[in-house]
Amino acid sequence: MARQTRTPAKAEAHPSKSPAAGRKTAKAAKPAAAADSKATAPRDMTRPEIAQFLTDLERAWPDAETELHYSTPFTLLIAVVLSAQATDASVNRVTPALFAAAPNPAAMVALGEDGVGELIRTIGLWRNKAKNVVELSRQLIERHKGEVPGTREELEALAGVGRKTANVVLNVAFHQPTVPVDTHVFRLANRTGLGRGKTVEAVEAALERRIPKEMIRDSHHWMILQGRYVCKARKPECWRCAASEPCLYPVKTDRPVIKPPRQTL
Ligand code: SF4
Repeated sequence: MARQTRTPAKAEAHPSKSPAAGRKTAKAAKPAAAADSKATAPRDMTRPEIAQFLTDLERAWPDAETELHYSTPFTLLIAVVLSAQATDASVNRVTPALFAAAPNPAAMVALGEDGVGELIRTIGLWRNKAKNVVELSRQLIERHKGEVPGTREELEALAGVGRKTANVVLNVAFHQPTVPVDTHVFRLANRTGLGRGKTVEAVEAALERRIPKEMIRDSHHWMILQGRYVCKARKPECWRCAASEPCLYPVKTDRPVIKPPRQTL
C-alpha cells in the first residue's frame, strides 16, 4: 500500500538547507516578476540542467511513490481508473470499502454496477466509473484469466482505461519506464523546460526522449509530488523549491511577506 506523502523532504522545505542552497543562482538574484501561472520556459533545458533538476527533485522527494492506496495490480488499476478527474485523497476514502467487498475481478462483477456505485458515489463521475469498473473486471476474466495484463495495448483495450491510466499501471505495477502525463506533470514540464509541448502526447514524447533512462520511472513520482505540493497550478512556490536553480520558469516567486499585526495603542 502506498504511503501518503504531503511535504517535500526537510531539506527542501527549508531553503537554507536545500540542495540548491549555497549555489550561486543568477535567477534567484533577480527581482521577482509578477507570478504568471501560465508562463512557460523560453527554451528546453540542456542535458546537464535536466540531470541537475531531476537530482534536486530526487533529493526533495526521496521516497516518492503513488499516493493511491492499493495492494495488488488489480486494485491499483481500479484506483487509477477511479482517480480520473478526482483527487487521490477522495479515491482513498472510498477504496477501503470497495476493495473489502470486491478484492478481485470476479467479486467486482458479482458486486455489480449498482453495488459499486453505492460505494463510490462521493467521487466525480461515479456512475460512469462504476460501469467501467465492472466491465473492465469482466474483460479481465474473459481475456486475461482475471489477471491485469502487462502491455499498453491490452490495458488500453479495457473499459475506462486510457493512455495515462495504462502508463501509471505499467510504471507502478510492472516497473516499466513509462512517463504518465497528468495535469501536474504537463504543467511542470512546460514551466521548467524539462519537456515542453502543447499536448499531453507531445510532452510525454519529450520527457521520454529527454529524461535519462535510469531516472524515467521514478521521475514520474517526483514530478507529480512537485507539481501537486510545490509547483502549484495557481502560483508555484519557487522560494521553497529545491530545483529552482536549473528550472527555467521565467517569473519565479519570492517568499510571501507576512505583515506583522498592526499595533494598537
Ligand atoms: S516551483 Fe518554481 S522554481 Fe520550482 S519547478 Fe516550479 S516554477 Fe520552477
